[in-house]
Amino acid sequence: METILVLAHPEAGGSLAKSAREALHAAVTLHKTLAGSKLVVGLVGDDVQAAADSIAACPAAKYFGVSGADFSQARYATDAAAAEAVCKAAQATIVVAPATSRWNRVLPGVAQRLGGRADTHVTGLAATGGAVTVNRWYYRQRMEATLQRPQRPWFILVDPGAQPACECGGGAAVVEPVAVQLPDACRRTTVLGVREPAADAQTIRPDAQLLFVTGAGWTKKQADGQTHVPEADKLIRGFLKASRASLGSSKSLVDIGGEGQAVLPFLSHLNQVGQTGATPRHPKGLSTCCHGEEPHTVGWRFINERRAISLDPNCGWARGKADVLYVADAFKVIAKVNELLAK
Ligand SMILES: Cc1cc2nc3c(=O)[nH]c(=O)nc-3n(C[C@H](O)[C@H](O)[C@H](O)COP(=O)(O)OP(=O)(O)OC[C@H]3O[C@@H](n4cnc5c(N)ncnc54)[C@H](O)[C@@H]3O)c2cc1C
Repeated sequence: METILVLAHPEAGGSLAKSAREALHAAVTLHKTLAGSKLVVGLVGDDVQAAADSIAACPAAKYFGVSGADFSQARYATDAAAAEAVCKAAQATIVVAPATSRWNRVLPGVAQRLGGRADTHVTGLAATGGAVTVNRWYYRQRMEATLQRPQRPWFILVDPGAQPACECGGGAAVVEPVAVQLPDACRRTTVLGVREPAADAQTIRPDAQLLFVTGAGWTKKQADGQTHVPEADKLIRGFLKASRASLGSSKSLVDIGGEGQAVLPFLSHLNQVGQTGATPRHPKGLSTCCHGEEPHTVGWRFINERRAISLDPNCGWARGKADVLYVADAFKVIAKVNELLAK
């Protein structure tokens, strides 16, 4: 009989992030289809009661909590000790957690301590013929694999955006406290502060409905023989502001910036989509001034509806990689779209 433990950490305000609710949804679905399984929740943070109450209507049989100021910040030593203690208290055989940066770096180490195994970047969980099966992608999201493992505990880190978020309601949860004895050596690392871009300078928005991708064409000479980078800058920023889209880029465009040429100052390699970049998840994607080559479009694997604007009717997007290709001047199209959005 499997004991499925959902491991989560509350956000600064005490609530659970969407990624935690997605992991919970995956675990609840698995529990419902896996005969004889038991579902429990483990929470690690400063104060975990509000987070437990917010999901109290989910079918978990028990809630475990490691709480206290030592566990409020992301820190390998304390997070690993807390996760290990909760796994032991719950006697977990399957541990499902959101693939946040916090859990991603800690749980493979906890699996090692407990003699288990860990799989990261999991996109699906199912019970097949009474056995637990997970899905994940390899070779930069080109091949999908289905895996089963005999080792326990099995740590499964679910990629954010791959599952619907659990909508189970709240209530009053009874949290069983789990004590963790921390040697002083576990407290050596301290988070002094958080540096992040101003809200309007933050162009990567994982929850956006649309991924707006810019290619090198925005910085190339146009029909008049001139480049129009300041105009491109204004159009792209205007579009992002009005649409709240997330901003992606082709490798060529972010590379041009690294080579010291005039480019769009708000782009960095973090925006790069593709084989050597990110594979974001959004319902829709719009590519502009971009050729649509294979190493770029592989990053569009999890974009459901793909559209592109390019002057070149023979570009890669036209060869079956976009659902809709507009053969048009992106400067004119985006100017018009911005005008309509402003209304
Ligand atoms: C090992 C390897 C890994 C790679 N990894 C990645 C990766 O992760 N991500 C990635 O993006 N690339 C990657 N690449 C590079 C990739 O193959 C392409 O070279 C790159 O994506 C092309 O970028 P681009 O389309 O912006 O530029 P270009 O190929 O220069 O295309 C510019 C496009 O803009 C169009 N255009 C110009 N002006 C306008 C206008 N006014 N209106 C509309 N369209 C216009 C042109 O018609 C053209 O199609 C990789 C390559 C290799 C070899």
